[in-house]
Amino acid sequence: MAIIGIDLGTTNSAVAFLKNGKPEIIPNLDGARTTPSVFQLTIGDEIIIGQDAKSSMPGAPDRTITEVKRSMGTDVTVTAGNQEYRPEEVSAQILRYLKKSAEDFLGEAVTEAVVTVPAYFSDSQRKATQKAGELAGLKVERIINEPTAAAIAYGMENLEKDQNILVYDLGGGTFDVSVVEIFEGVVEVKASAGDNHLGGVDFDNALTEWISTNFQKQEGIDLFSIGSQKEINERKARIKLEAENIKKSLSSQKTVAINLPFIAMHNNAPISINTSITREEFEAMIGDMARKTITEVEKALSDSKLSVDEIDEVLLVGGSTRIPLIQQLVEEKFGKKAKKDINPDEAVALGAAIQGGIKSGEIDTSQSIMVIDVCPYTLGTEVVKNIGGQVVPGFFDPIIPRNSSIPISESKVYYTANDNQTRVNVNVFQGDNQYIDQNIFLGEFLLDGIPAAPKGEEAIEVKFSYDINGTLQVEATIVSTGKKASSVIKAQAGVMSDEEVNFAKDRLDKEWNQSELYNEVKSVITRGERMLGETTGLEQEKLFSLLQNIKIALSRNDKAMVKKYEEELTDLLIELV
Ligand code: AMP
Repeated sequence: MAIIGIDLGTTNSAVAFLKNGKPEIIPNLDGARTTPSVFQLTIGDEIIIGQDAKSSMPGAPDRTITEVKRSMGTDVTVTAGNQEYRPEEVSAQILRYLKKSAEDFLGEAVTEAVVTVPAYFSDSQRKATQKAGELAGLKVERIINEPTAAAIAYGMENLEKDQNILVYDLGGGTFDVSVVEIFEGVVEVKASAGDNHLGGVDFDNALTEWISTNFQKQEGIDLFSIGSQKEINERKARIKLEAENIKKSLSSQKTVAINLPFIAMHNNAPISINTSITREEFEAMIGDMARKTITEVEKALSDSKLSVDEIDEVLLVGGSTRIPLIQQLVEEKFGKKAKKDINPDEAVALGAAIQGGIKSGEIDTSQSIMVIDVCPYTLGTEVVKNIGGQVVPGFFDPIIPRNSSIPISESKVYYTANDNQTRVNVNVFQGDNQYIDQNIFLGEFLLDGIPAAPKGEEAIEVKFSYDINGTLQVEATIVSTGKKASSVIKAQAGVMSDEEVNFAKDRLDKEWNQSELYNEVKSVITRGERMLGETTGLEQEKLFSLLQNIKIALSRNDKAMVKKYEEELTDLLIELV
């Protein structure tokens, strides 16, 4: 069974598989090679994903969820219609759609995927991505970094040549840069840097603001304050969608017309936007953001201890690298042309499919490609300092330095700070600042039962383990007694607990049996579910997958697919009895 590779992007997603040892993009249910990461709940409470959801967004901004990746790993909820969702649930629906596309294309059940995340995604963002996979019925045992995936796709084609490459990945929502060495078939990441909140959607937002401000200057009307809130939301969505198109056109044209007819009513008369924008004007509004990416490039280079001249190739990945200003800044920095022969929208999914092949054993790492990645940020714990006889908390002590090769385990021993101290709270942080409040809090746990003793006598060993997926385990041990407590970075605010996952699964499952079509196929589903307990192995997997598929088809109210799976399910049930 194929392990598919999925690039779950902020604005677009893609899915790929390995065919005869080579990665290939799988077209989605509409035949397109990428899928907008857009979720919509229709007025009939039907969930739609992808281009249809994106195109109909201006008419239904309150029912549409975009850029959900930016909320992954946080405890915010997103709303469509009157339904509230956790970001994982929305991502799960996108993953389900991609899974379904792959199953349709490959003609077999798909239960496992390698999913990519930005190198700069934190621990909770990675765990949230894995939960989304679980909700979608996909095992996601391997998460890989997006620029690493792109380097793998490039490396696979260029194995015979030893070289240092820099992957500059500017997508819809995030920016990542990685310095990678390809040496004798090993793709080794030397350093990564980036920004989780910098990408094409920020350019769209800046352009949306510009259009409205420019209109106000010319016409004296504030488009974002007239009419009802619903009208303002719809207008904003329409302008933003157009802003993205204008931005893309500005990558190939120097001046672009902005025409938005009947954008609002003013003094009982319709008003329209009819203006234009030059590439220079656009570049001025995104200049600071573009230059920020170069600062990150410099940081990654300096961490990798390689100079600009030692970089043999610069790889541009992510749709936003089509912007001429971006290409110009990168090429100026390196004094050479960047490589454009890889498809910036597809390289990440292709690399993920190769990683899937490595995991399934289809690719032999002793003969072909092997991958070594890094932990892009410093991880450590809070310590107290004795300053002038006073115990002062709030200091950060690094345990795993940034850009260490992974997997990695590092320990440090600390001593009690007070007389008769019987407990210690282990606070875990990510960042490079010496003060914890300038770093990102990842989680905490308590270790108690420390034997009472004078300060400094009892030792506590704190061990950090960062695995190949970029997830962190922390364990603390009282050295004298061996008593341990381990982290539960799992229980971070932004990651769904097991109970929440079960609840969400129930909710996903409930949608399908509310469909009108449900009654028509109820009996075959009931028979299938009963049979599930009586089968094992491949048969069970096949049956489970068909049941999942028919439920998804039901929740999408997709009559043709429901009928198709009903037939397949009936055939299978006949075969099984
Ligand atoms: P990705 O997540 O890598 O698919 O990148 C998608 C982002 O690239 C979106 O913000 C798109 O608007 C942007 N993008 C795609 N094509 C172009 C283009 N020709 N010029 C500028 N931005 C683009």
